[in-house]
Amino acid sequence: MSQPPPIFVTEPHLPPLDEFLPYLERIWASKRLTNGGPFHQQLELALAEYLGVEHLSLFANGTLALVTAMQALRISGEVITTPYTFAATSHSLLWNGIKPVFVDVDPTTCNLDPERIEEAITPATTAILPVHCYGIPCDVERIEHIADTYGLKVIYDAAHAFGVRQGGESILRHGDLSVLSFHATKVFNTFEGGAIICPDAKIKQRIDYLKNFGFADEITVVAPGINGKMNEFGAAIGLLQLKHIDTVLSARAAIFERYRDAFDAIPTLHLQTVPDTVDWNHAYCPLFVHAEHGASRDALFEQLKSANIHARRYFYPLISSFPMYRSLPSATPDRLANANRLAEQVICLPIYPSLDASEQQRVIDVVLRSSR
Ligand SMILES: *Cc1c(COP(=O)(O)O)cnc(C)c1O
Repeated sequence: MSQPPPIFVTEPHLPPLDEFLPYLERIWASKRLTNGGPFHQQLELALAEYLGVEHLSLFANGTLALVTAMQALRISGEVITTPYTFAATSHSLLWNGIKPVFVDVDPTTCNLDPERIEEAITPATTAILPVHCYGIPCDVERIEHIADTYGLKVIYDAAHAFGVRQGGESILRHGDLSVLSFHATKVFNTFEGGAIICPDAKIKQRIDYLKNFGFADEITVVAPGINGKMNEFGAAIGLLQLKHIDTVLSARAAIFERYRDAFDAIPTLHLQTVPDTVDWNHAYCPLFVHAEHGASRDALFEQLKSANIHARRYFYPLISSFPMYRSLPSATPDRLANANRLAEQVICLPIYPSLDASEQQRVIDVVLRSSR
């Protein structure tokens, strides 16, 4: 029997090619390829306006943006972070010679549990690096309160949180800095790319130096900066993607609602719940498979794979089990019970604008069959 066509966990959104050609013609005519060219300048302004933030600095990718954010705030010593995230979150600490201190997550939000932060603070702690996992906002108020009390900085890994609002306000306005990723797999993509959200022009200035080798002007180098610049090709595709973002977000929402309707009646499965005050971006569709479910999470993963549906177990295995982290005292599994349980239960289902109803039905059918 021939296989049905593959369905992947995501498919990057691309605007119509003919809409991109005029941008390319302008790049060819100007020969401005990088170093803060016209598209780069336009995209910084357009994104700040769209996202509802004061300033942002574009980057070649989210990981370099995270590494640079730590440099910009001179973070050192120990940083409190979550193990339930993508590798880049805590790797950005190791690249700065900072020791990650893992703290368990809240089982509902999958985000850093504010209740557990204070007990992890030591004299060496300088900052907190939480993640708005799957685009669900962290408890920003309580994190801010703890940070203010102990004199810590807060850098949000907001790689999943493009366009997310809480109470009508951008979630990216919280913390000292927030970092976005525009990787191909994210809600908004520039093929590769990222940004640091900056609350004021001064910190943006410093970050702009740091992403360009530390150059403040032609002859003055003020820091051992890196090359983190986004090029004009990325900035141009970003400007075009932004024109289509509302369609992308509403298509994602509709797909998520169809999954919700399909699985609502199954008590051994649950989808992410989102507070009413949050305008979510439906960045991912994590499905949590309880131990009492007919099939185990891994059996469901294999059943989907046999149907040529390639779901992903984000975030399994936990970062804290990677060889470069697992000997840290804070990486001990029994201290991270919630994160370990979520990592054992989660499976992220395909969600992307071009997933059509019949393809989604194939996914739903396999999941429904697994409950018997
Ligand atoms: C994607 C991602 C990153 C890294 O972004 P890149 O642009 O791929 O470098 C960082 N943190 C999280 C949580 C991510 O999902």
